[in-house]
Amino acid sequence: MELLVLGVLILGKSQNSDIIGYMEHLIIANWKSNPINLKEANNIFSNYLKLGKKLKNKKIIACLPYLYLLLGEKLKSNKIFLGTQNIFPETNGSFTGEIKIDMLKNLNINYAIVGHSERRKLGDSNEYINKQISLILKNKITPIFCIGEQKRDHDGKYLSFVKEQIIKGLNDINKNYIKNIIFAYEPVWAIGSDAIREATKEEFIEMKIYIRKILSDLYGSKIASSVKIIYGGSVNSKNAKIFIDASADGLLIGRDSLNIKNFESILNSF
Ligand code: PEP
Repeated sequence: MELLVLGVLILGKSQNSDIIGYMEHLIIANWKSNPINLKEANNIFSNYLKLGKKLKNKKIIACLPYLYLLLGEKLKSNKIFLGTQNIFPETNGSFTGEIKIDMLKNLNINYAIVGHSERRKLGDSNEYINKQISLILKNKITPIFCIGEQKRDHDGKYLSFVKEQIIKGLNDINKNYIKNIIFAYEPVWAIGSDAIREATKEEFIEMKIYIRKILSDLYGSKIASSVKIIYGGSVNSKNAKIFIDASADGLLIGRDSLNIKNFESILNSF
């Protein structure tokens, strides 16, 4: 109850929308390791550019595989931005097979996904993600910090799981940088073709309140209310508006970001 009251207070005070209700929603497109060739990548990206011209109150952040990032090298748009899906957290030395952040900074990269569940599955720990977030922020790139439980249980263990991801992921990060982080709540059980089911708006609202409560305890309510919290996991044109109406600051979209018809329907759905 206490959590809910605090959450409603903080949620109600979100600084992401102004008094007349204007808000720019973030649409993060996570292409993962797709598509299979440059021609197709070029085709999807060109369609994004066309969609960008019609966008109102939304911006698209296209998180492409490294191989395709050059497609956006000359990008000059206030509606379409480029992001990576990972960041290698070391800077000094030679690292065969890795891409250094300095190489990315020379491209048009403004955002970087970190802590995606598919990366965590490959071994990215909370400590590793913390190093990534620290480096990303120092390089003035915006981290899209993915958090989310593997499964829901009735004892609330999923809450402490997410809390630990946040606390460890943000360890020693300067308080002044926190507002620059986008928090993407992505319940693992709702992501990708293995999803058990879609999340409900109540599940998202609960988690949004909980994330702000954790941030409020760590950094104070002003910072907690200023961060953007978005939703990801099987978003499609039928449920996108549900999460937006549940006050998601944006959406992280995997599969449907590659299908231009579906992606456009999502953008037009709210
Ligand atoms: C994702 O890649 O984080 C994701 C949410 O994928 P999908 O939309 O396919 O569930």
